[in-house]
Amino acid sequence: MAENNTLQSIISHAKEYGFIFPSSEIYEGLSAVYDYGPLGVELKRNIKELWWKHMTQFHKDIVGIDSSIFMHPKVWKASGHVDSFNDPMIDNKDSKKRYRVDHLIEDHVAALPEEEKMLILERMEEMLGAEDLEGLSEMIEELKIVCPISKTANWTEIRQFNLMFSTKVGSVADEANEIYLRPETAQGIFVNFSNVQKTSRKHIPFGIAQIGKAFRNEIVARGFVFRMREFEQMEMQFFIRPGTQKEWYEYWKEERLKWHQSLGIPAENFRFHDHVQLSHYADMACDIEYKYPMGFRELEGIHSRTDFDLKNHQEESRKKLQYYDHTLNEDGKPYGNYIPYVLETSVGLDRLILMLMCHAYTEEDLSTEDRKDSRVVLKFHPRVAPIKLAILPLTRKDGLPEIAEQLFDDCKMEFKCFYEEKDTIGKRYRRMDALGTPFCVTIDHQTKEDDTVTIRYRDSMEQERIPMNQIKELVQKAIK
Ligand code: ATP
Repeated sequence: MAENNTLQSIISHAKEYGFIFPSSEIYEGLSAVYDYGPLGVELKRNIKELWWKHMTQFHKDIVGIDSSIFMHPKVWKASGHVDSFNDPMIDNKDSKKRYRVDHLIEDHVAALPEEEKMLILERMEEMLGAEDLEGLSEMIEELKIVCPISKTANWTEIRQFNLMFSTKVGSVADEANEIYLRPETAQGIFVNFSNVQKTSRKHIPFGIAQIGKAFRNEIVARGFVFRMREFEQMEMQFFIRPGTQKEWYEYWKEERLKWHQSLGIPAENFRFHDHVQLSHYADMACDIEYKYPMGFRELEGIHSRTDFDLKNHQEESRKKLQYYDHTLNEDGKPYGNYIPYVLETSVGLDRLILMLMCHAYTEEDLSTEDRKDSRVVLKFHPRVAPIKLAILPLTRKDGLPEIAEQLFDDCKMEFKCFYEEKDTIGKRYRRMDALGTPFCVTIDHQTKEDDTVTIRYRDSMEQERIPMNQIKELVQKAIK
């Protein structure tokens, strides 16, 4: 199947089964904004929970916070977002379409031989880093890039476009009241550094984790929930002693890669991409990329942010953001006062969801000689599956629903169950396959006699008869 078709099939599946809907769909939708439906929200909560536990429970030196979306406007001045959170863009005068310059060039060179492509992309990254807009313009001309819609090379000049959304606070519409919707959650952690360090009595090295919404006015939104204007991030800032960033960088790269694999995705689907051109705040940075249907793309960023953010906030706010380190150095003296360095891990929750959907989505041909048959199944790891167990009485009578309800009550506090009486058992199994439910249990007349049930495994479609009182433990074991 062509790769675009795969993404298209996943988008349709996500909508049909209540994972993800276009926002405000009855008004034709809002570009690059999506809503999570009943199944999607369960999937999302499971991933958040796994990440949160991994960060704040598994690592004893990480605590969490939940900071606000609105922040003082000076935050974004100090962080560099007002001046440098820009994407260069270009318009085609004939089609009136606007493009991100890097996307336009990347798409154009996608089909070139690997070596030639890498040379062009490296040159492009250097120019992006140096904000060499003229150079980029020349490159577009040199490569004879045309607009995919108008097919002409009638381009405007390249301009920088700030990605932050702004709004006004209060009733007086003057400039002093202009504030931004946060484009990243990280700054909420930096401005709370002292509050958290003092109240949680943490010593360096320690981390602060946060999950929350972020907003970016992306010029070109594409790839479904891969690039949205409103999205959710899961970020962790790890505060360290200056000079130790290399070892922590390596540690967090490996740690995060292992975590992604723990969601049931094999190693060959990931790769690291080291940044040639570093952002204004970083001295080392890489992306963990996942092999989406549209190719390897950034899933998570690992950034060594030095003391850039805390130092700038200290200057802008005139409040000390230093830390006194009592640990003794090689000369037997305390390290003393310094502004900590920061190692950041930043993953997009929606990109994680898309990764899990892409990996899980499978079309299977089950045809036999006499009968055509197929199924769509989402092969989620039981840990992330929105529903863990479907409880299905074979009929609506003879006391079977009552037994099924009992099993439901016994399991419902432990994990998410689903109860369904309608349709044939075969249809119900297929629906559960499409939702990614790893286990179905059928209660039939034999259950009344010997307390056994049929358990049906989603991936193999095998069925076996086991005592009903073993079901809860079986599911619990699978999601541990
Ligand atoms: P890209 O190069 O794809 O625009 P970025 O390098 O700007 O991403 P970061 O600023 O490092 O992204 O943000 C950290 C993470 O937040 C990314 O790795 C990604 O998972 C997620 N993210 C960033 N922008 C978006 C978006 N528009 N929609 C969904 N997730 C996003």
